[in-house]
Amino acid sequence: MNKSWAIVNKILPFSCVDGPGNRLVIFLQGCNFRCLNCHNPYTISLCKDCGDCVSTCPHQALSFNNHRVIWQTSVCQQCDTCINTCVHHSTPMTYKYSVEDILKIIRKYLPFLNGITLSGGEATMQLPFIEKLFRAIKQANDLNHLTCFIDSNGYLHQTGWQKLENVMDGAMIDLKAWDNQINKELTGRDNLRVKKTIEYLASINKLYEVRFLLIPNHTDLQVNAKYIACFLMKIDSNIKIRINAFHNRGIRGIAQNWEPATKQQVEQFAAQLRQYGLHNIVLPSLYL
Ligand code: SF4
Ligand code: SF4
Repeated sequence: MNKSWAIVNKILPFSCVDGPGNRLVIFLQGCNFRCLNCHNPYTISLCKDCGDCVSTCPHQALSFNNHRVIWQTSVCQQCDTCINTCVHHSTPMTYKYSVEDILKIIRKYLPFLNGITLSGGEATMQLPFIEKLFRAIKQANDLNHLTCFIDSNGYLHQTGWQKLENVMDGAMIDLKAWDNQINKELTGRDNLRVKKTIEYLASINKLYEVRFLLIPNHTDLQVNAKYIACFLMKIDSNIKIRINAFHNRGIRGIAQNWEPATKQQVEQFAAQLRQYGLHNIVLPSLYL
């Protein structure tokens, strides 16, 4: 499939936490994980055009035409009623952008950018689009200084990463849990492919950082710090680790009652990783 358009949830023109420097971040709609702790559950599925949210919109920004839900951005008040109505983990508020549309947006912010990052949802669900977009950036004389990054859950198979390796500069990969069973309970998927992705991207020098989300009593990261550190040390003793602290804002379902991670818990985990040799560790700049 040679897909040259994407379903986009949102575009953030400036971010300094999604890769090196100042970056334009494109959040693609759709994910292959079902994380209990997802902060943006409305990005998980593509809209099924069931129409259930149309009548709930208090500003008549939604309509139903030809079995499709139409969203009128000019009328929308961003009240999120539709998102809260949807039982399919989706939103009617998405954009269909072509590669050319995205290039136009990038050019608008170009003087301020060091690169672009594709995030989600799970960005790699729309792999053919990413491949085309990154290739177009690398081939454009005015854009090819921008670095192209992906923020991913790491579930993409190696053959998928191979399609990107000549056009992607780096990736941030989330390792949600060490134990496979705990990972399955948290995300609905196993983590064997995630670990393989970390090894593979490091081997081709495309792993920018590994991310851990510390969820007290619900991930096994602290208990398995030794195994995690040994796994990563074997790959690269200088590997960059980013630890994020769980908070329950925006979460639906059982995880909204889970305890946020404290500064002390995060620092204790970081100390455990350091004890086993890892040193390139970034801690959260704020705790909610
Ligand atoms: S956020 Fe959704 S419900 Fe609210 S105005 Fe916009 S389309 Fe309507
Ligand atoms: S956003 Fe959800 S409720 Fe609205 S049409 Fe799409 S699937 Fe149905």
